[in-house]
Amino acid sequence: MKTHINIYLETKKIVEKYIQTNVDKACVVLYYKYIQNKIQEEIHLTMKKYTCELCGYEYDPRVGDPDNGIEEGTDFEDLPADWTCPLCGAGKDDFEVVSDASSSEDDDWA
Ligand SMILES: [Zn+2]
Repeated sequence: MKTHINIYLETKKIVEKYIQTNVDKACVVLYYKYIQNKIQEEIHLTMKKYTCELCGYEYDPRVGDPDNGIEEGTDFEDLPADWTCPLCGAGKDDFEVVSDASSSEDDDWA
C-alpha cells in the first residue's frame, strides 16, 4: 500500500513538471486532480496520525514534517529512528497512534 502512495507521489511530481512546461494544460490539470484525490484516499486509508504524549503535537502523514525534511506521505513508521517531536524533542517512543480515522478533517485537502 505504501508503494501505491509512492507511485502517486512520483506521478504527481511528473505532472507538476509537465504543467509548468506544457501549453495545453486542461488534460494535465484534470489528471493532476485525479492523482491528488488518489493520494488523499490512499494516505487517508492507510496512514495513521500519531500524537506526542508529552506536548500533544500531531504527526500527520498527509503533511509530513517539511521543516525537518520529511515529505508528505511519509508513514510514521518510516520516519528516521532519530526523528523527534518538532515541538518538544520527544522520541518516536513517546508517540501514540490516533485511532480516530474518520475525522472531520476530510476537507483539508483543496
Ligand atoms: Zn512533543
